[in-house]
Amino acid sequence: MSLPKLEPLDARMPPWTAKHLQERHCPLCEATNAPALLRPDGLPLAYCSACALWYLVATPSEKALGEYYREGYWISTRPSSLNQDRANEMRQNAARFAPQDIRLQRLNVIARSLVGKRLLDVGCGLGYFMLQAQSLGAHVAGQDPAPEAVRFAQTCLHLNVCEDMLENCQDHLGSFDVVVMSDVIEHPLRPLNLLHRSLNMLKPGGLLLLWTPNGGAAGADPAVARDWVGFRVDLEHMQYFSPAAIIRLSNQCNLAVEHLETLGFPDFAGIEQRPASSRRGRQGILTWRRRLAVSVMQIRTIANLRTTAGNLYQALAMAALSSEKRATLDVRSGDYHLFSIMRKKT
Ligand SMILES: [Zn+2]
Repeated sequence: MSLPKLEPLDARMPPWTAKHLQERHCPLCEATNAPALLRPDGLPLAYCSACALWYLVATPSEKALGEYYREGYWISTRPSSLNQDRANEMRQNAARFAPQDIRLQRLNVIARSLVGKRLLDVGCGLGYFMLQAQSLGAHVAGQDPAPEAVRFAQTCLHLNVCEDMLENCQDHLGSFDVVVMSDVIEHPLRPLNLLHRSLNMLKPGGLLLLWTPNGGAAGADPAVARDWVGFRVDLEHMQYFSPAAIIRLSNQCNLAVEHLETLGFPDFAGIEQRPASSRRGRQGILTWRRRLAVSVMQIRTIANLRTTAGNLYQALAMAALSSEKRATLDVRSGDYHLFSIMRKKT
């Protein structure tokens, strides 16, 4: 029986084909699950009910993905200019808007201030989040596999960034009070390996921040999940964590969940400029945006959940910053993102 194939929304199609794929088990529990859907790139998705996790059951090789992250992925997301003017602008914006970043707000509360704390940004890209954390008093370091991004962060922003696999950065970078993995954990073939390497660099009692697309929004039923926008954009993603999967992960990794919430919409800035693959695809975005406008923020509260007063206004401001068009959307709407802060047990 052939699987239903989802329509693409994202003009950026990764370079792999359905040939030369390798089989993959659930990246959290190693169970074998039958594929239920085909993504627009032809890669099959399965749901592990034990882990509440959607994941790809056939993937490009680790080597092919490594090459992609060093070259192709970076080129597809690279800004048009990378010079000192851009660096100066980034630094100014980071200092101005850091207090409005919802991730930093939560960290500030749970860590009881970031002043003097050592913070590592795994997959730091150009280093914007590092600049924001630095402006709030954190001592920051980063890691990224894209050579050009690292050179820019080192040379133009004077940031301490390691261009290597994370396990090779530990001697150089040391240990940290806070490790941030923002839009990272959905990328690797072996997310637990990356997580363990990150946790090796986190001090006992330190905080791990995860920000990732919320696979929980897809639900467990393929007939419903096929409508979730997350399976049709950003096709580099290898797995989609749900809130329940995060809780399972925390138990597996000796972490205590301090904060867990779902919020917001995907960063579609510019997706309108990407060629839509079909009429239906474009219609899909419009319908989805309308749905966002009327949906409400969903916060899942568990033990030790802490919130900060006034964060809604600041979250709104954060959304408004990204693009003028998005200023009309409310970050409280939707549940595209999953955001968790966990503490390494002592
Ligand atoms: Zn599993």
